[in-house]
Amino acid sequence: MRVLGSGDADLPPRGEYELPLLENRRESPTSRTFRFSTKGTGFRYLSNQAIRLALPGVDDPWGRARLFSLSSSPTEPDILAVTCKISDTPFKRALARLRPGDTAYVFGPVGRFLYDASRPALFLAGGIGITPFRGMLRFATDRGVTQPITLLYSARVPEELVFRRELDAIARSSPLRSVHYTVTRPSDSSKTWSGHIGRIDEEWISEVVDLSLRPRVYVAGLPEMVQAMVILLEGRLNVPRDSIDFEVFRGY
Ligand SMILES: Cc1cc2nc3c(=O)[nH]c(=O)nc-3n(C[C@H](O)[C@H](O)[C@H](O)COP(=O)(O)OP(=O)(O)OC[C@H]3O[C@@H](n4cnc5c(N)ncnc54)[C@H](O)[C@@H]3O)c2cc1C
Repeated sequence: MRVLGSGDADLPPRGEYELPLLENRRESPTSRTFRFSTKGTGFRYLSNQAIRLALPGVDDPWGRARLFSLSSSPTEPDILAVTCKISDTPFKRALARLRPGDTAYVFGPVGRFLYDASRPALFLAGGIGITPFRGMLRFATDRGVTQPITLLYSARVPEELVFRRELDAIARSSPLRSVHYTVTRPSDSSKTWSGHIGRIDEEWISEVVDLSLRPRVYVAGLPEMVQAMVILLEGRLNVPRDSIDFEVFRGY
């Protein structure tokens, strides 16, 4: 993560919270969203920070906690949400079993992957890296941000494009929001896919985004994806380094 804009003094205070689960919802064959109540706790965060989530009593060789970007927006009152891939680890199995009313420990907010509403934005999401962008798009929509936002979102198969219905609704709600999907392995799916195929590349970015508007570019996903995008943006697309921000989802 890179430091963006203002210093730590402008970030909301960090704390430890025990929060009750409100909802455990399936998003795709491999991912789920967990919504927790923050009511009465004073928990505050910026669009779109992260949290460390710990589950009591989990016996996992890699610990009882994981870092997650928030998929919710500060404009959604009294809740926070994370959206995670459910792999077969003790931590994730315990997370998937959580029921409304169960509690989890949250430390945060952490991170400085912050949306700058004063500039046009280009979001590049790889797989579960969509989480902070769902939050940022919700935030920009709820706040009526007048700067344009373009999202390019890549997943392996169409059924792993999470939040699709909501993202499409956001795009329909304003000419300032545009959302584009690509699928890298359509043949691994039984669903028909008639959209864009392949990774996010120079040609596709140039086709759908006007880089002369000098957008701030945000990238989130697994390390290989983020690295490839930063090299492409800086090298071939001449985006200045200080206009690029990224969140690396280490740990998969
Ligand atoms: C800033 C940030 C934001 C993130 N946001 C999200 C998000 O929104 N959604 C999401 O799904 N994930 C997110 N992640 C990833 C998340 O924190 C977990 O790392 C990931 O979900 C894997 O956890 P796991 O229990 O499934 O896997 P595990 O394999 O148990 O991995 C958990 C931890 O153990 C370590 N580990 C595992 N095996 C080894 C090994 N052999 N040797 C050394 N270390 C090992 C990993 O490096 C990792 O730190 C984010 C990560 C970061 C850093």
